[in-house]
Amino acid sequence: MIRKFIYPFLLPNGLLCAVALFALAQKNLPVELLPFLRVFPFAVVIIGPLLGWRFNRTRLIYAIALMLLVELSMVYFPVETTAQLVFQSAALLLPLNLLLVSWFRERGMLNLRGAFWLTVLLAELLTCGGLIHYRPTLIQFWLNYPLFDLPQLQALPLAQPLLLANGLVLLLFAVRSLRNLAAFEASFFWAQLMILAGFSGLGSQPLRLYLASAGLILIMGILETSHSLAYRDELTGLPGRRALNEALAKLGSRYTLAMLDIDHFKKFNDTHGHDVGDQVLKMVAGKLAAVSGGGKVFRYGGEEFSVILPRRQIEDALPYLERLRQAVEDSRFVPRGKDRPKKKPKRRTTGGKKRENALKVTISIGAAERDAQLNTAAAVIKAADQALYRAKKAGRNQVCG
Ligand code: GH3
Ligand code: MG
Ligand code: MG
Repeated sequence: MIRKFIYPFLLPNGLLCAVALFALAQKNLPVELLPFLRVFPFAVVIIGPLLGWRFNRTRLIYAIALMLLVELSMVYFPVETTAQLVFQSAALLLPLNLLLVSWFRERGMLNLRGAFWLTVLLAELLTCGGLIHYRPTLIQFWLNYPLFDLPQLQALPLAQPLLLANGLVLLLFAVRSLRNLAAFEASFFWAQLMILAGFSGLGSQPLRLYLASAGLILIMGILETSHSLAYRDELTGLPGRRALNEALAKLGSRYTLAMLDIDHFKKFNDTHGHDVGDQVLKMVAGKLAAVSGGGKVFRYGGEEFSVILPRRQIEDALPYLERLRQAVEDSRFVPRGKDRPKKKPKRRTTGGKKRENALKVTISIGAAERDAQLNTAAAVIKAADQALYRAKKAGRNQVCG
């Protein structure tokens, strides 16, 4: 639970957000930091769109453009009363537009949807600019409209409609990150939190630095997503072969490595189709991911997995591997058929049928320990492979050391 949901949500962007919030809350930042803070927003404005272009993430380009627009409008309307209205309009429109942009699918920039959004944005700007110029008291009234008659709310630094818009967008981003943990999706939540903090004026630093931090968070989100594209296997979500090689290079001189292979896997593909084969792989990956004893699971390739158990001799490691073998054997795998109802039926009338349809999935495991003779990762893998071969020979569904 923690590994699967909390870590990817909090790291690294939650941490980045917390550090930025803490730093920007300080009145006097160290003077050594000042040149960096001057360059920081420019760096974000240049690097963000470049990354967005190369990684095909239009949403990042749009988001940075929005924040740049807010910053520019602050700079160009320095007259005090107007500036206040511009600031408040930005506090309302930025989160709403960010929400809109974040919903876009990645299909490039030059298309109908991009044109539609630019039209909407232009209409917003014209309406806002017109109101600020011709009817300032009206827009001031609406931007500060007391939605709830609570004295505590009136004391807050951000007027109620703006607080409501920012809060709602934050909530929607939170719900969406929980449903889709991909780092780039989740980074919108943290970016919006930065934006809310910037507009609320609670910190001591200018809004520009909050917006730049929000941009940095979105950039980190893209880098994180690319990291998992490189290191994670798409089908099972487990780390892949590249991650295994790097993990092996970092290990100390004592560890046990196991190779795991699904028994008669070809038969699932042959009798039920490749889709069911994929489902079996996912199911087994899910069981293996729960390995205890400090172990880490990788998809080695095809229907083969590897587990490394750092600092464990083979005798220590075998019980954990046996537990994995048992967990897979105990699982009752029912393929998702086309006739399977979308919603769970209220009464479980299919209990008997379910058991009948269940496929028996088992795995064989071969393990080897690094020692004086087997002193390279390649040699340990080879020995584990030989042990796996023995497990298969001896009748499958067993662990050999
Ligand atoms: P054994 O018990 O000896 O391991 O028999 P097996 O049938 O599992 O062994 P074999 O190595 O002959 O079969 C592996 C099969 O796994 C062959 C290939 O079609 C299938 N396979 C490999 N990767 C995937 C995948 O990503 N998805 C699906 N559906 N099948 C895959
Ligand atoms: Mg195999
Ligand atoms: Mg196999």
